[in-house]
Amino acid sequence: MTASTDTRSATRSSAEFERAEARTAHNYHPLPVVVAHAEGAWMTDVDGRRHLDLLAGYSALNFGHSHPRLLEAAHAQLDKLTLTSRAFVHDQFADFTARLGDLCGKDLVLPMNTGAEAVETAIKVMRKWGYRVKGIAAGQAEIIVASGNFHGRTTTIVGFSDDADARDDFGPFAPGFVTVPYGDLGALEAAITPRTAGILVEPIQGEGGVVIPPAGYLRGIRDLATAHDVLFAADEIQAGLGRTGRTFACDHEDVVPDLYVLGKALGGGIVPVSAVVADRDVLGVLQPGQHGSTFGGNPLACAVGSAVVEMLATGDFQRRAADLEVLVRERLDGMVGRGVVGVRVRGLWAGVDIDPAVGSGREVCEALLARGVLAKDTHGSTIRLAPPLVVSDDDLSWGLDQLAEVVAR
Ligand code: PLP
Repeated sequence: MTASTDTRSATRSSAEFERAEARTAHNYHPLPVVVAHAEGAWMTDVDGRRHLDLLAGYSALNFGHSHPRLLEAAHAQLDKLTLTSRAFVHDQFADFTARLGDLCGKDLVLPMNTGAEAVETAIKVMRKWGYRVKGIAAGQAEIIVASGNFHGRTTTIVGFSDDADARDDFGPFAPGFVTVPYGDLGALEAAITPRTAGILVEPIQGEGGVVIPPAGYLRGIRDLATAHDVLFAADEIQAGLGRTGRTFACDHEDVVPDLYVLGKALGGGIVPVSAVVADRDVLGVLQPGQHGSTFGGNPLACAVGSAVVEMLATGDFQRRAADLEVLVRERLDGMVGRGVVGVRVRGLWAGVDIDPAVGSGREVCEALLARGVLAKDTHGSTIRLAPPLVVSDDDLSWGLDQLAEVVAR
């Protein structure tokens, strides 16, 4: 690597960083930068230094920082009404649920806050559907998940993770999950039994390193689910809402899951907004008192979420991601053999496997930080690139130049 990895000079950023670390549980290992302001694809730290954002809040900032339309929706709503709880209906609710339902082509929307809550919601709905509609014996429902999954951090969800960091020491875990290798339709079919209520899969595994399954995998899941009377829940929390060049990653195989599990970008990078979206024969299994959230579907969340859905409805962001895929693919392919050992690209989303001889993913990210580029490693030697979809060609190109120079030895 050519860039210095000593990014902790005596600056306000370093002092603030130490102060933050001193009083925080160390469940994260952030890069040593303290951001004070951001617009579009650029973040400015407390010392006034600008950094190109190549992470976009793990895809929560698909529309960039401080998007004027989203800020306007949030500001307008802040002055009017922010919370009613679901005990009362508010005037932003119907628009949000109708717009999001239409975007997904589904009847009903169940709004929550974080991604993990939406996944938990999907699990509950699939189990209840399994008992009430499919007729699985009480307490016997199974959900099939994939190896290498990342669906969030609750105890139920980490219980079916195979990542030791995510899972170890947090048991005992909830039963009722069966893991099969990601991308393997034969193994999936073999795991389906009369007790199977649902299949929960990421159409692309983001946290896993932007792992793209073999062509036909999602179509195969759809067909198996239909043939065996099993629900298919697609966790599109990171992959969905424009990131891959389509509204949903499932769209690449013209597949419609039974449940869309959404989050991250649905809140426009402003508020946590997640949702499960499905038809009435699925989400209709829930009755009052059986599921809920104090903040889920609050007026501020719905106002921002509605604006997000309106922005997606034009298709412009999806097209932009698809266009930039060409640039990203060409540039990253050129790095293979020059410090990079593998790349996977779908839309404006890439997993870049760094040659271990160059250094760890963390070291590469620190070197990028020294050059004014913010990216994040995952699983040791992979860098996930997920810039805001509003990034300009020139800025993206410059960011990729920095990566090329850092990994070139
Ligand atoms: N599902 C997927 C595919 C994710 O990538 C994530 C977060 O990275 C989650 C679920 C959990 O979302 P949250 O962190 O909002 O709980």
